[in-house]
Amino acid sequence: MAVGYVYDPIYLKHDTGQHVEVAARLEAIVSHLEQTGLKSQLTLIEPRPASVEELSLVHQKQYIEQVQEVAGRGGGWLDPDTVMSPESYDVALYAAGGVIRAVEAVMDGEVGSAFALVRPPGHHATSQQAKGFCLFNNIAIATQYALAKYNLERILIIDFDVHHGNGTQAAFYDNPRVMYISTHEYPFYPGTGSIEETGGRAAEGTTINIPLPAGCGDDEYLKVFEQIIVPAARQFNPQLILVSAGSDLHWTDPLAMMEVSVTGFGKMAGIIKGLADELCGGRLVFTLEGGYNLNALAASVKATFDILLGNTGIDDPLGGSPRRFEAANIERLIRAIKEIHRLL
Ligand SMILES: [Zn+2]
Repeated sequence: MAVGYVYDPIYLKHDTGQHVEVAARLEAIVSHLEQTGLKSQLTLIEPRPASVEELSLVHQKQYIEQVQEVAGRGGGWLDPDTVMSPESYDVALYAAGGVIRAVEAVMDGEVGSAFALVRPPGHHATSQQAKGFCLFNNIAIATQYALAKYNLERILIIDFDVHHGNGTQAAFYDNPRVMYISTHEYPFYPGTGSIEETGGRAAEGTTINIPLPAGCGDDEYLKVFEQIIVPAARQFNPQLILVSAGSDLHWTDPLAMMEVSVTGFGKMAGIIKGLADELCGGRLVFTLEGGYNLNALAASVKATFDILLGNTGIDDPLGGSPRRFEAANIERLIRAIKEIHRLL
């Protein structure tokens, strides 16, 4: 099956000035896909702007109007980390709409799987607040859209960005139709994502947090994927899998303290693809969240595409970690999470 990618130069127009979340991130990805010849193997999915009605599936009207107003005034800061330029509102509509389009392309069978290369990212944005470089919660909006349009009962979101997706968790905390699983460095920004956060009363067990100590590398992440994420996904039996993909767990990332390699990203993507093939006819949509070392970001996105395409051999131009931080022991954590969520 064809593998799709969402991209449009409009995503470069969200101008953040002196910031780590910059247009150069997407430029690095696209030029790496071009230089390696991978882009020609992919099917372009053209994004469209999300409508205000679609944003309202997750966000309060008042907040949407506020973001539009700030753009109209020439931009400004929405929180200590999140800045807008005049074009940012329109770009953010295209980011949410891009993930919606990726979902549509997969659900309608235009492509087998897809990766939405969009910015601004989304997983920290809540119903009424911008946060952590995010304006609108792209993956949450696309998930709500998919539930409604395709009348789905079960969607799984896997979020392996190094930060906890507080906004996505909040959007579905009381919704038993969406399982949210997050691996993240902890304690760390934004502070949420403890193992005790497991879902509201009507949705108990459909939020699974895997808060990892600094220093986790490929071995630790693969253990978590195999021992927690795979059995949890099988139990939930989703009809569609969406992924908040950040590369900020790479060992070169300037913001976080994990030790994952590009090879590790490929293995994680392979496990997720295996789950999609086994459980939901391969229906799988990745969307870009963080990742601030441009080389690691570009190489990890390419590795993900290689896995989706079924290409053999993962290029890892950066190699394995020289270990900036001591390896973490996560055996007890894994046991505790398996017990809380009754995973075999
Ligand atoms: Zn992040």
